[in-house]
Amino acid sequence: MSVQYVKGVGPKRAAKLKKLNIYTVEDLLYFAPREYDDRTNFKDIADCAHGEKVSLNVQISGYPSKLRPRGNLSILKIPVRDKSGYANLVWFNQNYIASKLSMGDKISVNGKVNIRGNEVQIINPVFEKGKGEKTGRIMPIYPLTERLTNNEMINIVTNAIKDYGHKLPEILPSYLREELNLMPIYESIINIHFPRDKDHYIEARRRLVFEELLTLQLGLFLIKNRTGEINQGISFPYVKEEDKLIDNLPFKLTGAQERVYREVKEDMEKNKQMNRLIQGDVGSGKTIIAILAMFKAWSSGYQSVMMAPTEILAVQHYESISKFFMDYDINCKLLVGSLPNKEKEQLLEDLRLGNIDVLVGTHAVIQENVEFNKLGLAITDEQHRFGVKQRAVLSQKGISPDILVMTATPIPRTLALILYGDLDISIIDELPPGRKEIETYAVGFSMVNRVSEFVKKQVLEGRQAYIVCPLVEESDKLNLKSAEELYISLKDKVYKDFNLGLLHGKMKSSEKDHIMEKFKNGKLDILISTTVIEVGVNVPNANIMVVYNAERFGLAQLHQLRGRVGRGEYQSYCILINGSNSKISRERMRILQKSTDGFYISEKDLELRGPGEFFGTRQHGIPDLKIANLFIDIDILKLAQQKAKEILEEDALLLDEKHFLLRQNIIHMFKDRIEDLIFN
Ligand code: ADP
Ligand code: MG
Repeated sequence: MSVQYVKGVGPKRAAKLKKLNIYTVEDLLYFAPREYDDRTNFKDIADCAHGEKVSLNVQISGYPSKLRPRGNLSILKIPVRDKSGYANLVWFNQNYIASKLSMGDKISVNGKVNIRGNEVQIINPVFEKGKGEKTGRIMPIYPLTERLTNNEMINIVTNAIKDYGHKLPEILPSYLREELNLMPIYESIINIHFPRDKDHYIEARRRLVFEELLTLQLGLFLIKNRTGEINQGISFPYVKEEDKLIDNLPFKLTGAQERVYREVKEDMEKNKQMNRLIQGDVGSGKTIIAILAMFKAWSSGYQSVMMAPTEILAVQHYESISKFFMDYDINCKLLVGSLPNKEKEQLLEDLRLGNIDVLVGTHAVIQENVEFNKLGLAITDEQHRFGVKQRAVLSQKGISPDILVMTATPIPRTLALILYGDLDISIIDELPPGRKEIETYAVGFSMVNRVSEFVKKQVLEGRQAYIVCPLVEESDKLNLKSAEELYISLKDKVYKDFNLGLLHGKMKSSEKDHIMEKFKNGKLDILISTTVIEVGVNVPNANIMVVYNAERFGLAQLHQLRGRVGRGEYQSYCILINGSNSKISRERMRILQKSTDGFYISEKDLELRGPGEFFGTRQHGIPDLKIANLFIDIDILKLAQQKAKEILEEDALLLDEKHFLLRQNIIHMFKDRIEDLIFN
């Protein structure tokens, strides 16, 4: 039912509530406070300490006095007493309160203590005769929107609980609630808004968080179509050529690469399905692991596919993979959106017939009309750019193919549990030898000319540079450089004697490829770009990364950008132009200057920006959470994960009547993003 019909709401407030994502009565009931005002700290006047927030039971012991020290400031003082001593209640600019209280009234109050010499003051207290509604309780403080006060929210929520709270359905089946000792829903809702005491709050929150995480986890498992059981998979036996390929590589594998490949190889040789995530910082050499795995699949007569998030990256992978496989009879093909129709049809036909051994591409490879003959291995590169759903679709292109996902984004443990709960994790924690540390500088816009001079000098010595900025087109709202604007001004002025190229996400992919190709071949000296070059691009001759308005990027993202340079033999530089004076953004720049450790950087990013912004969990296909906090509720998350597995083992599609509401709840949480995939 629409929230509009809750007593005290109506159409106007309903519109405001929408901004808080509250549409229905249920949304309102589940709308958890941001924090609480604990008014249960009852004290005697004599025990009050300066600065603390207290509740007192007092009696009015004198007449009010009003002061007006300045024209716009009035002060009302009312003397009170209890058995331990005297105090003054003090209100600023609220003289009307005097008429509400009379000598001898017994009231309870709650406010902050201010001690001035011998005088105990309670500043701007809330008060009531007797006690119950306002004092002596733990009161909610809600995240608010414009012109909706906390008191209004409290009234609305109170009405909603009174009229509808007991009608809320119990989503969690009773066997589960009993087993885990979870509070009933009605009581949980009451206590999340108006906790009876701390223990009740903890129990209420535990129940609601569990409900939310169980729903989330069930949904994710259903999407992945895995219930924790290990699927039967393909066994790719060992062949001698693997070792030969490794021996013939143009470089020696690092220790970390060797270890990770061994883990992959063991998985592949077993007859269970491999589900492995490879985490490794930019430049740690993940691609070669993928290549070795694809070689192994090919040796057993299976096809492989590798999906990359951008066309540029897909092309690059395609080229380097083809090179490694040159000496073998391996047919490697590239599938991207821009492929002409005729060629595409031929390619799809060959793929279906099994004439293609290795397919590299963008999202195009998960299109419906893409059919493999015998898919044995599905690889996703830069996993963080894809959602859960896309990964699932890719693996459904074969019969339990082995799955390898690769990411350069270090993922905090909790999130990894959710995203990759069913994956084994390998970490490449060592860079190939001989890399020079990239020098990182953070400067303000006043230094822009010196930066340009430096870039020119390097280019004249034969190097190339990236210049990255946040936006594609001019923006009236934000005072930011757009790529186009910047390109035009730099090309005509600062760098007029150099070859500049422009690359951004709104260009056609054929144009992008063309520009990228020119940059790779050295026909362009400087590439002006948005973050499309962020992932994976490899041009060893480029040794300068300049980022305009670096404050607009996440630290992890800046770290990725920095990883575009330092890929060759030349000393490389990353110059961050910080357009903000704020302390926090200077702090963020400092972190990048100090460290080149991706895990450390993303941890710091998380600290400074908070989980929501950091991850954009949406991007991963995870719906917004209302109560649960992935960075705090690890234990409940683990429990939910375990229970989700058990439930699905018993009732794979949640068709049992006792799981009916749970199933509805999953659909509600994931909305259209899931329905088509899991429940038919
Ligand atoms: P990422 O992990 O960021 O995807 P890449 O796989 O693109 O890294 O590798 C980065 C560069 O390092 C590539 O040019 C690759 O050929 C090279 N490389 C990978 N492994 C080694 C190694 N063991 N020794 C030397 N160079 C390596
Ligand atoms: Mg890579």
